[in-house]
Amino acid sequence: MSWLDDLEKKLPEVEEQVVNDAKSPSGKPHVGALRGVLIHDAVYKFLKDKGIKVKNIYGSDDYDPMDELPGGETAEKYEKYLGAPLSNVPAPEGSQYKDLAMHYIQDYFKIFDEIGAEAEFYYMRDYYKNGFFNEAIDTLLNRAAEVREIYKKVSNSDRPDDWYPAQVVCEKCGKLGTTQIIDWDSKEATYICRKDMVTWASGCGHKGKISPFDGNGKLPYKVEWASKWKYFNITIEGAGTDHNTRGGSRDVANAISRKIFNYPPPVNIPYGFFLLGGAKMSSSKGIGATARDMTNFLPPEIIRYLMLTTQPKRAINFEPSQNYITKLFNDYDKLHKKYIANEEMQDYEKQIYSLSNINTQEKFEVVEFPLLVTLLQLPHIDVVEKIQKRFGRELSESEQKNLQKRLNAAKYWIENLANEEDLIQLQEKLPDETQELTQTQRVFLQKYSQCIKETDWSEDSLQTAVFNAARLTPINPKLAFAALYRVLLNKAQGPKAGSFVAYIDKDFLEKRFNELDVDIVKFWQETAISENDYESWHNSNKEKIVDEKLKELSENGTSVVEHIVSLNDGKTHLKRVLK
Ligand SMILES: [Zn+2]
Repeated sequence: MSWLDDLEKKLPEVEEQVVNDAKSPSGKPHVGALRGVLIHDAVYKFLKDKGIKVKNIYGSDDYDPMDELPGGETAEKYEKYLGAPLSNVPAPEGSQYKDLAMHYIQDYFKIFDEIGAEAEFYYMRDYYKNGFFNEAIDTLLNRAAEVREIYKKVSNSDRPDDWYPAQVVCEKCGKLGTTQIIDWDSKEATYICRKDMVTWASGCGHKGKISPFDGNGKLPYKVEWASKWKYFNITIEGAGTDHNTRGGSRDVANAISRKIFNYPPPVNIPYGFFLLGGAKMSSSKGIGATARDMTNFLPPEIIRYLMLTTQPKRAINFEPSQNYITKLFNDYDKLHKKYIANEEMQDYEKQIYSLSNINTQEKFEVVEFPLLVTLLQLPHIDVVEKIQKRFGRELSESEQKNLQKRLNAAKYWIENLANEEDLIQLQEKLPDETQELTQTQRVFLQKYSQCIKETDWSEDSLQTAVFNAARLTPINPKLAFAALYRVLLNKAQGPKAGSFVAYIDKDFLEKRFNELDVDIVKFWQETAISENDYESWHNSNKEKIVDEKLKELSENGTSVVEHIVSLNDGKTHLKRVLK
C-alpha cells in the first residue's frame, strides 16, 4: 500500500516512533472516528512488522470542557455542567463509571479490542493533575505574545493583548470553558469566569487568582495538541480533513510546535471524511451512526477492510444498501479466496488482507453474505444446517465462528438497515400479479421445472438451468428471471436465483412452476420466428452445430416446426417457426 511506504520514508530518525491519536469523550463516538483509529493501528502494525521500534498511544481528551449536551433523555440534567471538564461531569444513572468521560471512552476502548486495534490508552486528566504539562503551561503563558502572533499569522485570528493560551477551572462554579486568564505573574493567573465568552456555556462572573498548574489549568485545543507532540515525543499523527485546511488547527499546532517548543511536528496522514449515505444511517435519530452500531453490525475484518482499503486521503462513502454491503463482503472474500487457494496476490492485496485479518491466518472457507441474507428470509430453514450440508463436511471452528459473525451481520442488516423493497418473502400462494406474465414466461417456468428435475440440486446447477430452460423456451434470460421472482417472491427482481431455489422445497417449486395456465397457440405466436430468420441463424451457426432435431406440432388448426439444435459449446437451442 503506497501510503504506508511513503510514510516510512518521511519518518524522523529517532530511537522510537510514537504514533498518537485522541478523542474527546463527549458522547458516543461516530462511526467515522474508527477510520482514524484503524489508520493509526495500520501504521503501528506496518512499522512493527518492519522491525522498527514503535508504540501507538491513544488519548482520552477528558479534561476538555463539555461543549454540548450528551444525547438521550437525560440531556437536561447536564445543562449545568456545560463548560466543566468532561472528567468532572457525573456519568448517567446506572453507568458503572463515575464520570461521563469514562462512561463514553471505556466502551470505545472496548471497541478497539473487538476490531483488533492495539494502543496504549492515556487520560489527559491524569497528565494535567500530575503536573506533566506544568512546564508546557509555564512556557506558553510566559510566551503568550508569541502564541498570539502565531494565531494572527497562521490563521489570521486576532487574540487580544490580554488573551493567554491557557484556561483555569473556576474555583466557584467548576467550569473551565468559560474562564479567561487576564493576567499572569509567572506563579499565579488572574482570571474571570465570563457569562458570555462562549455561546455553549455561561460562566458565573467570579474573578479569582490561582496557580494554573497540577490540574487547575488546561491548554486550549490547538496549543495542547502541540504540547502533546513535544512532551509525548510524538512522531506520527494523522488528522481528518476538517483539521487540515490551510490556516486550520493543524497549521496552528505545527507553528506552535516549531516556534515555541522547537519540536518538529509529527508526520501527518491527512485522511478524508467517512460519509454515511442512506436515510437509515444519516438520520438525526442516529441509528447506525455510532462506532458501536458499526461493530454490532459488521465483523471486525470487514470493518478493517472497509476503513483501510480506501487510500486515506480519499473520502469513504459508506451506504447500508444491499448492493454496497454485498460488494464490501464480496471484495473482501475475493482476497480471502486468493489467500486460502495460495493464489498469487499483488503486494497491496497482501498488505490489505493481512491488515484486515488480524486474528487468524488460518485457512478456512467463508459463506457469501448475500446467500445468508436470502436464507434468513426463507421460511422453515435451519440456516446453519443448510450451510453444513452445502459444505458436505464438518465446519472447522474458525468456519463456525465466521459463519456466526456473518449471520449476525445479515440479521442486523435485515432488521435495521434494509429497505422494504430489499426484503424478500416466499409467497405461500400464487400472487395475483402473476396473471400479467406472458405465455412465454409461463412456459419457461414449466421448462425450468422439468430441467431441474434432471439436474443436481446445487446452487450453480440450478442457476445454469435457468439459462438452459430459457434457450429451450426460447425466452430472453432477463424475462425468465423476472418470471421466477414474480411467482416465488412477487417481486420484479431478487437474489441470485440458484442460491435461493436450492433451499426451497422441491414439491413446492414443482407445483408453483406449473400453476399458471398456458395458451399454447398464443405462446407459439409470441415466440415464433420467420423461416428466413431461422435460415440465417442456422447459417451463421453452421460450423458449430453437432446435432439437429425437428418436431412438428399442431393445436387448434395452428402448426409449428421446432428446430432443436445443439452446438459444440454444449448448449441446446430451440427455434420455432409457424407453418
Ligand atoms: Zn465560574
